[in-house]
Amino acid sequence: MKKILLLGATGSIGQQTIDVIEQHPDQFQLVGVSAGVNENKLHEIVKKHPSIEVVGLAIEPKKNFEGKKVFFGKENMVECIHNCDYDLLVNATVGFRGLKPTLESLNKGIDVALANKESLVAGGTLVRKTLAKTNTKLYPIDSEHSAIFQCLQGNSEKEVSRLIITASGGSFRNRTRKELKNVSVEQALAHPNWNMGKRITIDSATMVNKGFEVIEAHYLFDLPFSKIDVVLHDESIIHSMVEFDDHAIMAQLGSADMRLPIQYALTYPSRLVLKEEHPLDMTKTRELHFKEMDNERFPMLKVAYEAGRKEGNQGAVLNGADEQAVEMFLNGQISFLDIETSIIKALEHIEYIQDPTYEQLEESDLHARKFVKNYWN
Ligand code: MG
Repeated sequence: MKKILLLGATGSIGQQTIDVIEQHPDQFQLVGVSAGVNENKLHEIVKKHPSIEVVGLAIEPKKNFEGKKVFFGKENMVECIHNCDYDLLVNATVGFRGLKPTLESLNKGIDVALANKESLVAGGTLVRKTLAKTNTKLYPIDSEHSAIFQCLQGNSEKEVSRLIITASGGSFRNRTRKELKNVSVEQALAHPNWNMGKRITIDSATMVNKGFEVIEAHYLFDLPFSKIDVVLHDESIIHSMVEFDDHAIMAQLGSADMRLPIQYALTYPSRLVLKEEHPLDMTKTRELHFKEMDNERFPMLKVAYEAGRKEGNQGAVLNGADEQAVEMFLNGQISFLDIETSIIKALEHIEYIQDPTYEQLEESDLHARKFVKNYWN
């Protein structure tokens, strides 16, 4: 029985993780959960899973979590990690706040199934050091990285000539840059293929998400940026590919359902039965389309490559500026294209730190957010 501590339990990935766990009660036990502010949903989860011993919440709880160890406030996730007996951390939180729990679990010697991109985007260099020091592992939950991870099985990363990450192009893929000027929040939130959280849906439309995924891939698979490519693929059926030195290309295909990557991260190297409503039927798919990435139309990808190559605190600045800008866009304070400007300006203005400590990354993150806020006020 694998004991799971799930951070971000009430979000999109968190809910689907619980579904996977509930599909295999003989394999997994949920022993700890945390959430941001959605206390009602968290309370329901705790009631449904008597195995839960530890509960974390960003706000002070009003409900009664009787008999549970409850932690709340800024450090609730870290306290959950230190006060929970678990075998695998599923980090399904969104944002920079997910970095510290990843580092704490690895330092405790416990592997992490990682859906929190920011752990690698903002804290890649630190996470890499921590993995080497503690001999722990990360299991990717992002669909693209899970695909690459699956394609790599039985081969060495040394034999890889390049990773090919697929990108749907997001909700505005059929619009020109001119047509992006006055797009609304509702339009931006309508992703053609995936039903996801708000932040990541906006990040898909700006292509920032794909930039994040390139940086994630760099750290997860220890490959230089020159070996990581992005290709536009309308259908989101090929979740990503690996080309080897002999030009064999391996791909992983599947429906747009995060439960497969979640389950594979939980069961690796085994594959268990997974109940899906709409498993992929190739005869109904018929056509798969691919196009070269258009860097003029999607300038954020190049920006992310540059920030990724520089390493240091650049990922933290990139992410902090984006988190702030997306929040402001969702609140109607800035336009869609202002998100790009926010990121470019923050990267230009914030001081570069080559080998940052956690505290310096936290400062860079805060600095980037403040910079973006002030820029538009
Ligand atoms: Mg993804």
